[in-house]
Amino acid sequence: MAEQKKTRVLIVGSGPAGYTAGVYAARAMLEPVLVQGLEPGGQLTTTTEVENWPGDTEVQGPELMMRMEAHAKAVGCEVVHDIISSVDFSKRPFVCQSDSGTEYIADALILATGARAKWLGLESEEKYKGFGVSACATCDGFFYRGEEIVVVGGGNTAVEEALFLTNFASKVTLVHRRDELRAEKILQDRLFKNPKIETLWFHEVAEVYGNDTPLGVEGVKVKHTQTGEITEIPCKGFFVAIGHAPANELVKDVLETHMGGYVVTQPDSTATSIPGVFAAGDLTDHKYRQAITSAGMGCMAALEAERFLAEDESAPEVQAAE
Ligand SMILES: Cc1cc2nc3c(=O)[nH]c(=O)nc-3n(C[C@H](O)[C@H](O)[C@H](O)COP(=O)(O)OP(=O)(O)OC[C@H]3O[C@@H](n4cnc5c(N)ncnc54)[C@H](O)[C@@H]3O)c2cc1C
Repeated sequence: MAEQKKTRVLIVGSGPAGYTAGVYAARAMLEPVLVQGLEPGGQLTTTTEVENWPGDTEVQGPELMMRMEAHAKAVGCEVVHDIISSVDFSKRPFVCQSDSGTEYIADALILATGARAKWLGLESEEKYKGFGVSACATCDGFFYRGEEIVVVGGGNTAVEEALFLTNFASKVTLVHRRDELRAEKILQDRLFKNPKIETLWFHEVAEVYGNDTPLGVEGVKVKHTQTGEITEIPCKGFFVAIGHAPANELVKDVLETHMGGYVVTQPDSTATSIPGVFAAGDLTDHKYRQAITSAGMGCMAALEAERFLAEDESAPEVQAAE
């Protein structure tokens, strides 16, 4: 028989949302179990400097996440290296299957599985990620003060990122493979009126080039989609803004989603349409997608889970995590 682990609260995901939920749930004496998933520490482990986490003028992403993990463990959250493969949402307690074969049984669930930026898939893009290549203007725009920046994409995200980046850059070039944008008209108007932004139609990014020592972007090569002609655009920052994909595989057929797959929660709450299931962080957030907002939602989810369990007299008592 499969090993079973029972808990009042199971937290799925180990990004800022998951670990913050772990801290709050542990301090509410819920003895939570947190399953880390394939990427312990989440998205911030893939970046270098983080300069907008309050209390740290500058901190390395992986270091910040190790501290969050240590904090959650120190207050009593059990952190498990495993991946949840499916959840039976049809009855409580919820039964979750995992890659290790362990069956997690929980009275309440906090889903914090995050999201992923979509990338172009170029080798050179991978090489310079975190060293000039980014998918988050809010996170990294500040590093390119007075520099030229290239943004690729044609939807709302691309236009918003391009506009935001004009706060820092001397010039922003928006590269798009068609001759019209998908972004809302009002955003397009603002884009076309902005003297710092140039739009390059019918082009796609073929390569990012730069220096090896120190590693850094010097420009991108763009290819005309009709003629195939290659042009170089010098820039220090290259922002990929072709969308994000929330990691909703566990819930997409069960919970309501919107805006391209983000889990819908009740207003001012992390409660989902299933009582006892809470969702926090980038999984639910098509708008801000920041560590601090994810952590805030993790806190909300743990407090709401605690209240749910306290109020729900029919919640079966299960033994705390072994
Ligand atoms: C390169 C980069 C730089 C960034 N820089 C900044 C910055 O400077 N400042 C800032 O505020 N934000 C930054 N962000 C955004 C920030 O990282 C995210 O907003 C934040 O990490 C979202 O937190 P989260 O907890 O919702 O999920 P994530 O960090 O996405 O973590 C999701 C977690 O879920 C786990 N998981 C997924 N599926 C499963 C499963 N089936 N079972 C178990 N676990 C699962 C994963 O392993 C992972 O641990 C950056 C993002 C990137 C990609």
